Amino acid sequence: MTDCLFCKIVAKQVPAEIVLEAGRALAFRDINPQAPTHVLVVPKSHYENAAALAAADDGLADDVLKACHAVAVQEGVADSGYRIVFNTGSGAGQTVFHVHAHVLGGRGLTWPPG
Ligand code: 5GP
Ligand code: ZN
Repeated sequence: MTDCLFCKIVAKQVPAEIVLEAGRALAFRDINPQAPTHVLVVPKSHYENAAALAAADDGLADDVLKACHAVAVQEGVADSGYRIVFNTGSGAGQTVFHVHAHVLGGRGLTWPPG
């Protein structure tokens, strides 16, 4: 996708603080962090949302989930607890339509989310 912000980050056309590159997945810090650890994990290929990623049917969703856990370990939040969020659709707060998992940790996280 030529006009996708996260495709541009994957292509290194837009700078980002990359924390992990794991095969078909890439992790970088959110520009507007909501917790001490707030990392976005994306598949390098373009899928609009979690539903499209799940339908990719080639293990890609698995790679993204494994990369989320690897980020949590690397960030030191795996033991204290962390949250993985896929906002899916504008009604759920999705603003960038290249699927991304938010990996949040490093502080207490309340439930239900806002
Ligand atoms: P969504 O609202 O779609 O679930 O999440 C989009 C996330 O992307 C937001 O948390 C927002 O802060 C982050 N974001 C938006 N633009 C950029 C950017 O240019 N670079 C980075 N690293 N994050 C961004
Ligand atoms: Zn994209």
